Amino acid sequence: MLDAAFFRRWMTATAASVDREAERLTALDSPIGDADHGSNLQRGFHAVTAELEKEDPQTPGAVLTLAGRHLISTVGGASGPLYGTLLRRTGKALGDAGEVSEAEFAQALRAGVDAVMTLGGAAPGDKTMIDSLVPAVDALSDGFTAARAAAEEGALATTPLQARKGRASYLGERSIGHQDPGATSSALLIAALTEAAG
Ligand code: ADP
Ligand code: MG
Ligand code: MG
Repeated sequence: MLDAAFFRRWMTATAASVDREAERLTALDSPIGDADHGSNLQRGFHAVTAELEKEDPQTPGAVLTLAGRHLISTVGGASGPLYGTLLRRTGKALGDAGEVSEAEFAQALRAGVDAVMTLGGAAPGDKTMIDSLVPAVDALSDGFTAARAAAEEGALATTPLQARKGRASYLGERSIGHQDPGATSSALLIAALTEAAG
């Protein structure tokens, strides 16, 4: 079973990973974006970890809705509302249970990813965070390690794609040949699950 402490560790591990990889995320956002993805997410996840300390939410759902809310209010850009929606919607789907099973979490995360697709209008293959999140959710029934591998593979597979959503889509064919920054950071988020499960 997964408790509030697990979800706090997930957010803390994501924040640490985003800190480690911020320069790379911003570098990926340079040729096909505006070179701010790493700093956007650093700002957001620093706010999330600070607020988790302050508010001390007691259920899995409350941890994720708080995180989503603060990502929306601090990140800005395209990725803030999208990541915020992902975590807020996942948290809402978990309700107010004190503990959730991995299967319940997988189902909730699917609802979160669906909400991101509804909000952003992206489908798999559009070269966005969806390209790592959908394979991750599909693999989650096989465990966190399988989800992590699927997300990392999905992020790598964005390189030959032409972007059809977000800022990178303005480049048309010139977006081909670059790995998507949001798919890369989504793989970090999913990888952090294995650290939280530690
Ligand atoms: P901005 O483009 O506003 O500077 P970021 O650089 O923080 O925002 O985030 C860019 C990432 O957001 C992209 O790499 C992509 O993965 C994701 N993204 C952009 N638009 C969409 C969308 N409509 N649906 C899903 N993901 C998107
Ligand atoms: Mg950007
Ligand atoms: Mg920007």
